[in-house]
Amino acid sequence: DFVSTAITMKGTRTEKDTPALSQAELKKQSMQEVRRSLPIFPYREDLLAAIHEHQILVIEGETGSGKTTQIPQYLLEDGYTKGGMKIGCTQPRRVAAMSVAARVAEEMSVKLGNEVGYSIRFEDCTSERTVLKYMTDGMLLREFLTEPDLASYSVIIIDEAHERTLHTDILFGLIKDIARFRSDLKVLVASATLDTERFSCFFDDAPVFRIPGRRFPVDIYYTKNKIYCYKEQVLIMHPSSCCTFVLQEEIEACCELLQERCRRLGSKIAELLVLPIYANLPSDMQAKIFNPTPPGARKVVVATNIAETSLTIDGIIYVIDPGFCKQKSYNARTGMESLIVTPCSRASANQRAGRAGRVAAGKCFRLYTAWAFKHEMEETTVPEIQRTNLGNVVLLLKSLGINDLIHFDFMDPPPHETLVLALEQLYALGALNHLGELTKLGRRMAELPVDPMLSKMILASEQYKCSEEVLTIAAMLSVNNSIFYRPKDKVVHADNARMNFVVPGGDHLVLLNVYTQWVESGYSTQWCYENFIQFRSMRRARDVRDQLEGLMDRIEVEVVSSQGDNIPIRKAVTAGYFYHTARLSKGGYKTVKHQQTVYVHPNSSLFEEQPRWLIYHELVFTTKEFMRQVIEIESGWLLEVAPHYYKSKELEDSSSKKMPRKQGKTKEELG
Ligand code: ADP
Ligand code: MG
Repeated sequence: DFVSTAITMKGTRTEKDTPALSQAELKKQSMQEVRRSLPIFPYREDLLAAIHEHQILVIEGETGSGKTTQIPQYLLEDGYTKGGMKIGCTQPRRVAAMSVAARVAEEMSVKLGNEVGYSIRFEDCTSERTVLKYMTDGMLLREFLTEPDLASYSVIIIDEAHERTLHTDILFGLIKDIARFRSDLKVLVASATLDTERFSCFFDDAPVFRIPGRRFPVDIYYTKNKIYCYKEQVLIMHPSSCCTFVLQEEIEACCELLQERCRRLGSKIAELLVLPIYANLPSDMQAKIFNPTPPGARKVVVATNIAETSLTIDGIIYVIDPGFCKQKSYNARTGMESLIVTPCSRASANQRAGRAGRVAAGKCFRLYTAWAFKHEMEETTVPEIQRTNLGNVVLLLKSLGINDLIHFDFMDPPPHETLVLALEQLYALGALNHLGELTKLGRRMAELPVDPMLSKMILASEQYKCSEEVLTIAAMLSVNNSIFYRPKDKVVHADNARMNFVVPGGDHLVLLNVYTQWVESGYSTQWCYENFIQFRSMRRARDVRDQLEGLMDRIEVEVVSSQGDNIPIRKAVTAGYFYHTARLSKGGYKTVKHQQTVYVHPNSSLFEEQPRWLIYHELVFTTKEFMRQVIEIESGWLLEVAPHYYKSKELEDSSSKKMPRKQGKTKEELG
């Protein structure tokens, strides 16, 4: 039967006895056979015929049926890459693009980056020879800038369409438009079994091709009462071949707890492999989850919602679902974006449960009540376009010459206020003129693959003659809070090491200091180790920095240093982020424009200092609205960099003197 075939083929094991295969034997097994065992395989000819017949086709299939890895190969085998034409396949997540490309390269026995490659922001693993190109949806969007009709592609697959990321939604509109005059372009919209009617409807009633799934029954269990500490529950469940969904910041702790528990049980239980998977996990670590479990051992995958649909891990029998996800939310009145932990949608919960039934009947333990499932969860997740800042996308669309955004063909239009606010912000940044047209500055800003504020900061560094430093800061900011390493057993050492990097002025300058010292160490791993700095993050920062520096030529910014003067650097930051200004008044910080109460993050170098004026890089909502990465500024600079946005009246009391240090608030209280 195909169950045991599937199991032995991929070398994964359930608790039931299946013949053991060594990894070497498995390797020998023909990849072609594995490919033939996938649910999509029997439909290969029908699918190709349907693609031949229709320009736009919606493809619906259970996660793991082979859409992402197989369809591009079928198309290649069918001649769609003749004459060097490319097949592009978009993924909402970087990890998925990389991992799937690696898998397909392996199946085709080619080196990754040759015929099969991937392209994600700040990392291009493709070459002249690449014909199957996996990429993030954001990267394809940027390709419109250099090739507005995507002329080098014969097929575009918009994969994981059900995720409805902002970039995927914009791609829908753009691709639908170019398909009208590029009759030779095939468009495939691939999705898990969700929402496919809507896609069909949007694409002028494009036919839906359904790949019947092989799903085994999954028993669902709920808790009787509300659970407050679900990490502990995850452990009590004694998983085997299990996948549990938690938030990224909890993964490490969850894995540690599991391992600790196993150590204590010693030989009383069978070997348990504990494997994490999340977006920023280094790729060699990611590859581990796909390795076959050794005979007799069991595997627990601790995952974020990345394993919900974009990655398929074979052999999962149990799923533990705490029922949460982290979601971006956007306040279109204040322009504030924050990440909040919320209950996931029922659709998400069902996808998660579905992961338990791929190779055999499974069980899903929901760590919430049946009542909560019914009454506290939304039916589906709200598309990202309706809960995010649109600055980036609006700038991109404007540079593509799309001026009338109100009438853009959105599948679900963004809220009107959000669009208006994005236009206002771009105007304030100087990217648009008062008619809403792209300025020369805006055109240069769009060349950089970063958010408009960061883009503006980099461009402003030209005027303030500190591009060398600002590039470093931009790179360090984009590796996002993973620079400092703080292992639980060495908290004191780690915090001391961190203190040693503190320089006056704020976190941006601390990051600059870390990077500069690392460069002086000769990019040393040892140096990172000694200073509790994550080497991987630093290496990534260096890659990002190199890429950005490479683009400086294109936007004609000379790379020069401010020679140790940090005022120009802080002014450049202000020129980009003047929207994010907070002022200290009685009681605490308030944002200048909207009087919203915000707090300096306890990890910040300015946590105790409390300068009168500061600019934050981002806001995160955990227990409160915390400002992460803050820098001290003088209010006068705001008038200098954004005279059309700030009035001097708003900035009264502009002395930059520090307030007396506040008493009685400890890190613990705020943390
Ligand atoms: P879909 O896109 O329909 O969800 P995929 O094409 O991603 O399905 O997956 C098809 C099969 O390929 C799955 O059984 C999965 O286990 C396997 N697979 C996908 N990526 C990898 C990988 N990186 N390593 C090993 N197996 C993989
Ligand atoms: Mg897929």
